[in-house]
Parts: sequence; C-alpha cells; structure tokens
Amino acid sequence: MSPVTRHPARPPARPPARPAPKSKIDYKALLQKSFQSSYEKRDDSGKFGSIWKPGLEIPQWKCSEGTHIIDIIPYIGGDSEPRGLSGELVHYLDVWVHFGVGPGEDTVVCPTKTFRDRTDIPADMKRCPICEEENELKKVDGFDDEIVKSLRSKRRSIYNIIVRDNGKEEAKGLQVWDVAFFFMEKNLIDICKNPNTGDFDYFVSPDDGKQIKFTQKGAKKNVSFLGHVLLPRDYTIDQETMESAICLDESMEVLTYEEIADMFFAGYERKAEEATPVRTAARTSRQPISSSEEDVPFGSDSDTSAGEEAAPECPEGGVLGADMDRFRACENCTIFNICLEEKDRLDAEAEPAPAPAQTRKPATLTGTRKPGLRR
Ligand SMILES: [Zn+2]
Repeated sequence: MSPVTRHPARPPARPPARPAPKSKIDYKALLQKSFQSSYEKRDDSGKFGSIWKPGLEIPQWKCSEGTHIIDIIPYIGGDSEPRGLSGELVHYLDVWVHFGVGPGEDTVVCPTKTFRDRTDIPADMKRCPICEEENELKKVDGFDDEIVKSLRSKRRSIYNIIVRDNGKEEAKGLQVWDVAFFFMEKNLIDICKNPNTGDFDYFVSPDDGKQIKFTQKGAKKNVSFLGHVLLPRDYTIDQETMESAICLDESMEVLTYEEIADMFFAGYERKAEEATPVRTAARTSRQPISSSEEDVPFGSDSDTSAGEEAAPECPEGGVLGADMDRFRACENCTIFNICLEEKDRLDAEAEPAPAPAQTRKPATLTGTRKPGLRR
C-alpha cells in the first residue's frame, strides 16, 4: 500500500461557503420538530423497554447497593391479575418477562408463564412464540445452552412501595419496584410464615403491617439481596397512600402472539443451524391450538419428546419440582421447564381437585371479568 501523498505547499482549501441567506430564516421553527421529538423520547429506551403500557408514567425505583427500608402498599388486582386474583387485595404483580427481544432489545411479558394459572383465558391467547422457540431448540441434539437460556423468561415481582431510607426518598411518595422473584418475594413469603402455626404475618397490612429491611450487595450480574427482616412500624398507611397504589396488572402491556413474534424474529439470528426448520414452524403455526392440547402443562410436550433418556437431576442438588426457585441458579437453569412441569405434577397430587377460581367474593369485584389479554 503506498503512503498517502500530501501537498504541503498548497494551502488547505477552505470549504466552500454557502452564500448567506438573503432573507432571514426562522431556524427555530425549522428545528422545532426535531427538538420536540427528542424531548418526548428522552426517556425512551426502546418501544417496549419496559413492560408498561405506552404513555403511562410509572415512578420506578432503582434499588442501589446498601441497606434499604420499604413499605409495600397493596392494591386491588385488575382484570389481568396473573394469579386470578382480580378484585382481591394483592401485594405484588407476579409476572414473567422475556428480556432483550428483537433488535430493540425490548422487554415483553411472557403470556404463557404469566397467565398459566388463569384457566379463564383461552390457551391460544396465552401462547408465546419465544417460549415455543425455546422448547423447539431444546429438541435439537446438542442444543446451545446459552441460546436457550437467553430465550427463557424470567420471573419478576413488582411492588408498589414507599421507600423509607431517608426523607428525600420518602418525599417521592409511591414508587414501583421491579425485582427478580428470587431476590425479594421468595424471601418475604418465607419469613412471614410462622413455621409453628402456619399463620402469615400480613406485613403489607396498612394498619398493623411491617417495614421490610434488606441489603443489596453488589450490582448487576453479581447482585444479591440479603438480610430480609420485618420490622414493627409505629405508623399506619393512610387512605390517600393506599389509593395512590397503581393497579400493576392493568398497567402492563401484554402483546399478542403476532406482535411478539414480529418483534422477536425481526432480530433473531439463529445460531443453531440444525434448528432452522423451527423458525418456519413457529412463524406459521399461529392458529389456535386444539382444545385437547390446551391443558398440556407448559414445556411438557417438548421435554418428553426430546428423548430424555433418564429423569434429569437438579444441577443445584435439589429435588426436581419440590425445590423450584429455591436456588439462585434456578432463574437460568437449563431444566427449568422440566422442573416446573414436575412442580405442577406435585401440586396436582397435593390438591386432587384444583380450583384456581376465586373462592372469596371480593367486595370490589363487580360485573364480569374479562381476560386482560388482547387478541
Ligand atoms: Zn414466553
């Protein structure tokens, strides 16, 4: 390659100057749209950077390293309450999400796992193309663990909270906190149950509830939450604060199968070449599945047909099904769905006549319940 020749003797040419406009141009008016657009998108991290419906202002709390004290504010579950608790007083939103979906790395609610307990929602409305892809990939011999993990939805717990760390945080009033189920709800529901009596300490009760103290250690991939403890509080949660709680399930955006598929496959490059036919199958099999297939537990078809030679063992040394979500690694476990299926089976054995429908009639439940999913 020859070196670049220069012409040092010649003075650098000045860029051609545009002739000055004769009449004054209103540059402010010309720039107005660009500035306005930029301002409106200033907090936008992607079309569905969060699971919230567009246009909603959700005051989200970002937990930082250190010790925190919060109160959880309960709210009345809406039509999209995943656990079927519409009209009931609930203390958190139990939701499964897929992260990093499509070229925009969006976050989307997984309809399959989020609404798996909602027997009133038709199975075809609960289908998820990403979960289907995950299951199909696992049928391929020598499937890539990393790809399968990246497709798996994650369980999140979302709370309405008041942060009591200091006056500044407290003055913000109600905030919304989205945290991995494993880090918070899993611990809280354990420590609030009296092992002797089986009674719960209803720590979110507005009149005689408790503060929650915990410590975040580390951040991002090395984060952990320790020392969860319930502390007595010498105040009550007033009516105004209770009414300020956001109906979280009604605020989340649940996309249709087609919408998720369009987003997902738009940026999905298959790295496992053997699975090429799967994409076609996933793209074209969007018609509702037959009713005979509706009650097949999530993941069971793929896991049994994948030719497992022996029952898989829990990589953490736990008991399959019984110890689901007990370990930190559960969140990204390669046999999570098998474990989930086993848990379903164990639950079904424990409760021979499962009645997921509400047994209590809440005072606030009026009219007919309609599924919160869009077709
Ligand atoms: Zn899914």
